[in-house]
Amino acid sequence: PFSHLLPHSTADRRRQVDRRARVPQAVATELEGAMAANRIAMQFQPQFCCASGAVVGAEALVRWSHPQRGLIAGDELFRIALRADLARAMSDHVIAQALMQARDWEGGLHLSLNITAADLAAPDFPDAVAAALCASGFASERLTLEITEQALVHDLDGSAAQLTKLVDMGIRIALDDFGAGFCNFRYLKKLPLHFLKLDRSMVEGIADDRRDLEVLRGIVALAGALDLAVIAEGIESEAQRNAVVREGCFAWQGFLGGKPMPPEDFARL
Ligand code: C2E
Ligand code: MG
Ligand code: MG
Ligand code: MG
Repeated sequence: PFSHLLPHSTADRRRQVDRRARVPQAVATELEGAMAANRIAMQFQPQFCCASGAVVGAEALVRWSHPQRGLIAGDELFRIALRADLARAMSDHVIAQALMQARDWEGGLHLSLNITAADLAAPDFPDAVAAALCASGFASERLTLEITEQALVHDLDGSAAQLTKLVDMGIRIALDDFGAGFCNFRYLKKLPLHFLKLDRSMVEGIADDRRDLEVLRGIVALAGALDLAVIAEGIESEAQRNAVVREGCFAWQGFLGGKPMPPEDFARL
């Protein structure tokens, strides 16, 4: 049982190094195959204007349809891609696909795209987004990029500089999953943000718990004072939707309005 504490022989060590090198390589090959075979595809979840009730856009959410494991969601896909050293390549693939599918939408609908810490840290990321916008013909003013707190914690000043480059191109920035992490209010002050996306856990209780409603009120007031529009996510009931509309959120999304759907279905909607 304590063999792991004994010094390794050279042969042991070589075997370990081999294994470590091989596993990511196999995963990388699988991911590259999946991208090439179009098994990594976007779904779109509608977002609704609180004032008019109209669809104003959609959030792109990626799905990997794996031959053995079935549908794999975006957060897990990006964890796997990170381990295989393919997070940036995967992100470029996803962004290009989403923009190509969104450019034919009618009525100037907006597209929201999630990005990762690896994207934000990459010096060439703003250029990569510019190139993808150019290739698709999708107007930068119709694009919102969503970041989470985890993407910011390593280098706040660097992140702010990267985001500013994107904002200078006309892109808008949303702070995603607000309320699920540490809610560091310094981020609200230091970053060029346009939207606060309230995490599902923040809206879950608003229809039947007084304190949840007061927390929502406080955040909407703070956001308003900072010129940020609030988007409520994870809306599953009429009562929750009525509450976020009444309290002055800008937009909402959730299973009540529609689950993430294939592009054909969203275009029809
Ligand atoms: P997120 O950006 O916060 O996305 C919202 C998640 O909540 C989605 O899960 C969505 O399907 C789910 N959701 C939406 N409305 C409701 C609702 O009313 N009730 C419930 N229970 N859930 C709802 P999904 O698609 O599994 O994505 C999970 C996370 O994976 C996303 O969180 C995002 O962080 C990441 N992700 C997804 N697609 C991408 C992508 O294309 N790129 C990157 N970088 N990350 C992605
Ligand atoms: Mg999101
Ligand atoms: Mg979220
Ligand atoms: Mg999330």
